Amino acid sequence: RRAEFAAMRDLPSVTADGQRVELMVNAGLREDAQALDLVGADGIGLFRTEFQFLVSATLPQREKQQRLYKDVLDAAGDRPVIFRTVDIGGDKALPYMQRDDDEHEDNPAMGWRALRLALDRDGLMKAQARALLEAGAGKVLNIMFPMVSEPWEYEEARALVEGQREWLIGQRKKMPIAVRYGAMLEVPALAEVLDLLLPRLDFLSIGTNDLTQFLFAADRAHPKLAERYDWLSIAILRFLDRVVRACAAHQVPVGVCGEMGGRTLEAMALIALGIRRLSITPASVGPVKAMIRMIDAAELQALMRQWLDEGAADMRARLSHWAKERNI
Ligand code: PEP
Ligand code: MG
Repeated sequence: RRAEFAAMRDLPSVTADGQRVELMVNAGLREDAQALDLVGADGIGLFRTEFQFLVSATLPQREKQQRLYKDVLDAAGDRPVIFRTVDIGGDKALPYMQRDDDEHEDNPAMGWRALRLALDRDGLMKAQARALLEAGAGKVLNIMFPMVSEPWEYEEARALVEGQREWLIGQRKKMPIAVRYGAMLEVPALAEVLDLLLPRLDFLSIGTNDLTQFLFAADRAHPKLAERYDWLSIAILRFLDRVVRACAAHQVPVGVCGEMGGRTLEAMALIALGIRRLSITPASVGPVKAMIRMIDAAELQALMRQWLDEGAADMRARLSHWAKERNI
């Protein structure tokens, strides 16, 4: 099957009934950008910028950040790269970052992390924004904010980046030809106010790792809980269905960038829900593309609608039966 997946590299990611599914990769290091060519992906759907902060002994200076972003953009060429602003704090603590004594956290995943931290420590965010804007000179720059919980957080983050852009223009720096802004949907509460946020978004990306952890109140790293709740449970699928429909109503492109999308059956379910952009681990691109090329998306989508309405408790069995019958 290895050779089969290698051969898959240059084939288009299109379903049997002609629907295009964008397959992008998740990345975080300079070297990861090479995976794009290796597996034949459409771009980087999630670049985890915090990796550079986590592997560094001291806070990476703006110039160093900028160099990394530029290298990644160069490696991607014409293909889009979605940079996620730092998702640090919580369990991804930086030893060189000063924290106050009252900052002990019982629940770091739900703590002072990601955009929450970045908006409070805005010096960090401003430096990163400038690094991204300068690295993206002459190109389309995609910036996405993690752990948005309420629309104002997105607005504040976006305004912060825009403020840096204006400042840099004043300095006569060459800027991106366009900046596109997106939010990650990882906090369930955001789904309830999507109608307020979507008009302001260029794209939405669903982070299923954190989202499902919060939906089921089940620590994503807990070994005893790893198998307990299924990504193909009716609760998750119904939740995602509502999000996809809201995005469609507002004509905002929506993708999934959590690990769920890298598993063949789960990816199939996401396509059945109407998702047409997946950002996954490079090793999953071959197997997922092989599946995509075999399925009839329209048929699957109609079935999924029926099963969601029914409230089918055995989604995994149904999907896997459907796939087996078609030798997928
Ligand atoms: C997610 O939460 O699904 C996600 C993609 O972000 P991370 O795994 O980096 O938290
Ligand atoms: Mg996350």
